[in-house]
Amino acid sequence: MTKINPLLQKFDHPPFSKLKTEHFKPAFEESLKEARQEIDAIVKNSESPSFKNTIEALEFSGNQLGRIASIFFNLNSAETNPEIQKLAQEISPLLSEFNNDLLLNKGLFDKIKQVYEDKSNHDFTGEQIMLLDKIYKNFTRNGANLNEEKQERLREIDKLLSLTSLKFGENVLAETNNFQLHISDEAELDGIPDSVKESARVTAKEKGEEGYILTLDFPTYIPIMKFAKNRNLRKQMFLGFGSKAFKDNEFNNEENVLEIVRLRLERANLLGFDSHADFVLQERMAQRIDNVESFLDDILEKALPAAEKEMEEIKVFALESDGIKDFQKWDKAYYSEKLKQKKFDLDEEVLKPYFELNQVIMGMFEITSKLFNLSFKRDDSIEVYHKDVVTYKVYEGNTYLATLYADFHPRPGKRDGAWMTTYKDQYNYEGKEERPQVSIVCNFTKPTKDKPSLLTFNEVTTLFHEFGHALHAMNANTTYPSLSGASVYWDFVELPSQLMENWCYEKEALELFAKHYETNKVLPIEYIEKIKASSNFMEGLQTTRQVSFGKLDMAWHALKTTEGIDNVKAHEDKAFKSTELLPDVDNNCMSTAFGHIFQGGYSSGYYSYKWAEVLDADAFELFKEEGIFNEAVAKKYKKNILQKGGTIEPTKLYKEFRGKEPDPKALLKRAGLIPA
Ligand SMILES: [Zn+2]
Repeated sequence: MTKINPLLQKFDHPPFSKLKTEHFKPAFEESLKEARQEIDAIVKNSESPSFKNTIEALEFSGNQLGRIASIFFNLNSAETNPEIQKLAQEISPLLSEFNNDLLLNKGLFDKIKQVYEDKSNHDFTGEQIMLLDKIYKNFTRNGANLNEEKQERLREIDKLLSLTSLKFGENVLAETNNFQLHISDEAELDGIPDSVKESARVTAKEKGEEGYILTLDFPTYIPIMKFAKNRNLRKQMFLGFGSKAFKDNEFNNEENVLEIVRLRLERANLLGFDSHADFVLQERMAQRIDNVESFLDDILEKALPAAEKEMEEIKVFALESDGIKDFQKWDKAYYSEKLKQKKFDLDEEVLKPYFELNQVIMGMFEITSKLFNLSFKRDDSIEVYHKDVVTYKVYEGNTYLATLYADFHPRPGKRDGAWMTTYKDQYNYEGKEERPQVSIVCNFTKPTKDKPSLLTFNEVTTLFHEFGHALHAMNANTTYPSLSGASVYWDFVELPSQLMENWCYEKEALELFAKHYETNKVLPIEYIEKIKASSNFMEGLQTTRQVSFGKLDMAWHALKTTEGIDNVKAHEDKAFKSTELLPDVDNNCMSTAFGHIFQGGYSSGYYSYKWAEVLDADAFELFKEEGIFNEAVAKKYKKNILQKGGTIEPTKLYKEFRGKEPDPKALLKRAGLIPA
């Protein structure tokens, strides 16, 4: 083993060039030990607990551990290998053990509680109060304030919940994998893109079969619903998809849904909340169930009439084109897609030459420079983990603001999708300012010898989205790292990212970067209009669908009692009643496969997709009123949102910036659901 472990030396930027996988394990062990000692020292301190010796000391403990963990898990997402993956299996339990021990540390909590209960006797800053509340809640929301018996029950519930959620997910996966539709005649696949057919052929071959095997994986299922001419095929696929974990077999999830809902309610009650949603919303901008419900209802009121009209239009189109008289759920995506093609004829391939990656990046930087006075200087002296990664030093005026890592192309060892992450958060420790190290990771088409990387419009908005998150992290100007940058409430975190996407639809902004890579000609205005119009296509239906999922989520999690609720499908039907536009399918159920809320972390949070859209549309409206490059508006936005992180309640921050509360009208206008 190498004698000197670069992770255990002092470093500013991650020392990628000296880093070997074998360095991580000993570095984790050493820094975990150190973090435990730091916490012990807080508990054993004989002075009476104060903000400084308890809250601040805890906040700045485990610094080395945090940095090592960020490097390790970022690598595991962006440049992994079997060795790193195996190590992650060893490291993750060590970290959760550390975290659990921390939350169950009675000596530590007693001190935190003393500081918390004494807070009115001190002149704490707003940020200090936010930190104190955050840390205190982190403990109490995990039962630190309960007596031993109740604490024990809470642990039991947590164990049961994680097992049941796991089982829920396994069942959905098993049902997805167990379904296969074997097609021998290619003619039955008419309309489906060749790439999808090809992968269905490969699937069949792998299973030793002739012809094609269709599965319920998204990359197969979605194109079939959109493009398959064969109506019966669509029907079979739709029924297969919609009955996942709802059949009379060992993978049925009905009991698991009811069990998860019961356990979550019991957990919330133990902690003094009326419902699971009340518990979750305590740490959300929306705050209360009635806020979420009236929010969803307001949006629905405007979206539903539009949705009904759109549905009528699709039905008429289906009748005229194929004589469909009994329009069903499995016809919706198909005829909607056909109608879209007919109306807009927007060919991605025609647009792509106008979105050459480097031009788009330069345009994005220029927009940020106009708005926030930021400049980006490429700096190859910063070490990277892969040669594709490009690094920039970011300046505000002449002052160094942040380091930005950009990793744009797919390769084996990188997971799908796009995300922003940090190697170091911004904070200020005893007067010494630490600036953040931020990374955006995407999977855009690689350049080739004779063609640069050309983006689809969707990839352009993805880039702006992740860059918006990066701006949040880079502009951070707070004292404490856990309140810095994007460390904000969940239904607030997408404001900076989604806001940036708005510039992609503006002529003035597009002219800066949407230039043909061969002719340098600016993207023609009629394309810009088409992009805008097609992005609102069937918006009423899409909004209604999103609202219906939010309503289903709340129908399960705002319950104050589960008595009398024993039929999953019946409960779901009730929740969907106000949003249902097509005949229900008896043996289909959404809840039994709704992984977002029963497996992932979105319970009582599905509404936040729309919530964030309301915020970004309303925020951008101010830019539209004053000019999309208006410096005064940008300054207000930077000062009140980008720099403040989680140091102030988001509702207050938003009002400071906007001068009023967010209004859904801007979103409804942008979506074409009410007149502009
Ligand atoms: Zn995002």
